[in-house]
Amino acid sequence: MSFDLHTHSTVSDGTEPPAMVVAEAARAGLRGLALTDHDATAGWAEARAAAEAHGLGFIPGMEVTSMAAGISVHVLSYLHDPEHPGMRQLNAAARAGRVERAKQICARLAEDLPITWEAVLEQVGPDAAIGRPHLADALVAAGMVADRSEAFRKYLHRRSRYYVSQQNPHPVEVIRLIRQAGGVPVIAHAMAVGRGQTLSPAQLEELVAAGLLGVEVHHRDNPEPGRALLLDLAARHDLIVTGSSDYHGAAGKPNRLGENTTEADQVARILQLGTGSQPYNVNP
Ligand code: AMP
Ligand code: ZN
Ligand code: FE
Ligand code: FE
Repeated sequence: MSFDLHTHSTVSDGTEPPAMVVAEAARAGLRGLALTDHDATAGWAEARAAAEAHGLGFIPGMEVTSMAAGISVHVLSYLHDPEHPGMRQLNAAARAGRVERAKQICARLAEDLPITWEAVLEQVGPDAAIGRPHLADALVAAGMVADRSEAFRKYLHRRSRYYVSQQNPHPVEVIRLIRQAGGVPVIAHAMAVGRGQTLSPAQLEELVAAGLLGVEVHHRDNPEPGRALLLDLAARHDLIVTGSSDYHGAAGKPNRLGENTTEADQVARILQLGTGSQPYNVNP
C-alpha cells in the first residue's frame, strides 16, 4: 500500500481535475497521494473530498520552480500553510511571471505557427497556473502536433528558438520560506540530466544547510548514477527519501500514477515535520 507524492491537476498543467487524479490514484491501487500543482494550492479541497470518497490518504503539496546559478531547481513543499504571507507573495510573483513568460513564448511561436494568446488561454483551467504544457495544448488544438510530447520535442524545449526563461527565486530562499510556512521542502527530480544542467554536490549541500528535508530519488527523470548520489546525500544528512510519478494526467505525459512510490516510513516523517496544513486519512 503505497503513496505517490508528486502529481499535477488542471489547477496547474495537469490534464485532469483534482478529483479525477484522486480517482485514478484509487484505480491504480495507491494508499494515498499528494497533489503538488505548480505554484497553486487551489486543488487541495477538491482532492481531499475525493480522497474521502475513495478512502485514500491525502497530503497537500505544491511544486515551486527556483533557479540557482542558471540551473532550474524544482522544490516540492508538503503541508505548508498556504496563507503564510511569504508563501502567498512567492506564489503571486511566480504566477504573474508565468503569465508574462507564456505570453512571450506565445509571441515567438506566433511568428511561425498558427497560435494566439486567446487560443492558449482556452487551454488553461479557471485560475490555473499557466505553463509551457498549455502552449503545447494550443499547438495540438491547432493541429500542429499530435500531443504535448511532440510539442516539447519540436518547439518548447529549453534550447528552442522560441524558449524564454523565467526569473525565479533561489532555492535557498524557497526552502527557507517553505520551512517558515510549516512545510517540508523536498527537492524534485534533482538529477534529471535530461531537463538540463543539474546541481553539483556542493550546491546540494548548500540546500541541505538551508533547511532542505528530503530528496525525490525515485523519479523516472533521475537516472543512475544520480540516484546513488542522492541516496548518499540522504544517508549522510538523514534526509527523507521519496519516490513519485510526477503524473500530469493520462493525456499530459507518459508518467503513470504509482510508477514510483514512497515508503510508509518516509511518509510518516513528512507528517511529523509538516505543521502548516492538515493531511487527511494518512496513518502509515
Ligand atoms: P514550465 O513550468 O512552463 O517551465 O513547464 C514545465 C512543465 O512542462 C513541467 O511540469 C513538465 O512536466 C512539462 N513538460 C516538460 N517536458 C514535457 C514533455 N516532453 N511532455 C509533456 N510535458 C512536459
Ligand atoms: Zn508540470
Ligand atoms: Fe518538476
Ligand atoms: Fe512536477
